[in-house]
Amino acid sequence: MKVNYSAQLMEESVFRHLNHLERSGYRADYDEFHSLADPIYELPEDDREAAFEKVNRLFFLERLMLGDHVLRALEAVGLIPKRRRTVKKSALTEKAAPQELEASEGEDEEAEQVENSEEHGEENETAIAEFENEPEENADVAYDLAREFEERIKEVTVKRAINKVDEGSNVLNRVSGNPLIEMRVLASRFSNPEEAQELDAFLIHELMHAKDMVDPEFDYEDAFIPGNPSVKNLITARFRLLWNMYVDSRLARMGVVSVQPKESRYREFDNFYRKIPEKQRKGIFEGLWKTEKLTHEELLSMATDLDTLMSKYVDPGEITDEDKDYIHLQGSPCPLCKFPTYNWVDDPESICDEMVIEAIQIDFPDWESRDGACDRCVEVYELRAGVG
Ligand SMILES: [Zn+2]
Ligand SMILES: [Zn+2]
Repeated sequence: MKVNYSAQLMEESVFRHLNHLERSGYRADYDEFHSLADPIYELPEDDREAAFEKVNRLFFLERLMLGDHVLRALEAVGLIPKRRRTVKKSALTEKAAPQELEASEGEDEEAEQVENSEEHGEENETAIAEFENEPEENADVAYDLAREFEERIKEVTVKRAINKVDEGSNVLNRVSGNPLIEMRVLASRFSNPEEAQELDAFLIHELMHAKDMVDPEFDYEDAFIPGNPSVKNLITARFRLLWNMYVDSRLARMGVVSVQPKESRYREFDNFYRKIPEKQRKGIFEGLWKTEKLTHEELLSMATDLDTLMSKYVDPGEITDEDKDYIHLQGSPCPLCKFPTYNWVDDPESICDEMVIEAIQIDFPDWESRDGACDRCVEVYELRAGVG
């Protein structure tokens, strides 16, 4: 696997990082950079670009070691094997790192590993410092898996994002079998060494998505999402949330800090699934959070259809089919016209004339007000009842 950085990313990151150092009173790197870069202006114009790029590359990769963030993130997610490398670690991390775990048998092994990562989780400056604490057997399996990914993915390219929306990772040539990971990141994330943890968390989170996309077990597909634009947007938004939860929960189990804590993911989840009774809503979230393996198809079908989500994570005894039908989630079908509905009238009885309810029940004798209906059907029946 080759890791490339675009010239623009290196240039802007080095510029921002050096300026930050200079403002904080560290001039040495800043001065050295200018002693190399300033004379370039005297070169013939045609030669300048390449000369600047050389200096930027030297500083990005070697002097400021900004590329190490990407390498460590690749290690953390298992896209390349973990290596012992000398990294700038905080004094606290240094203290924790040499501690070796006695490999013990069976269950204890796991318990110890979890304890260990929790213990150190808060002390670590970088998001990823527990490499050395893994029991040996697990470490071997992880090593082999990571080797496979490293060999299969020919290239990782890290480019400069132009804004936050532009940030993220993607996999090119996925189908042809020569996958390339392309990642876009804001250069400003590289400027402040004190914000390194956020940078690492961002890189790790994005690379987890990329790893899923190249993982045959996840089986990513460019799926066609049917429906009108608002249906598509809603399904896409729910799918993103569920995938983000799947990424962050695995990182949490590994003791790695991600971009958002569990609580804030729950708030997002809460927002989308407000209409599910609270107990079940919490249960679904916790169930999802604990799930170790999910596929692209499972995530997508859960995002598309509430029943799939409920049947996976809610005990059948806990909520009756009938109660389930009263949860009028955005996008579930109106019982009258059967179209996916985004504007529900949850209980038409409470806002409509009795004649409207009667008119609906002439066509749908089994329908009750708490079954709800879409706003368009309610309108149609209001007209029909002569009260519209
Ligand atoms: Zn994400
Ligand atoms: Zn309808």
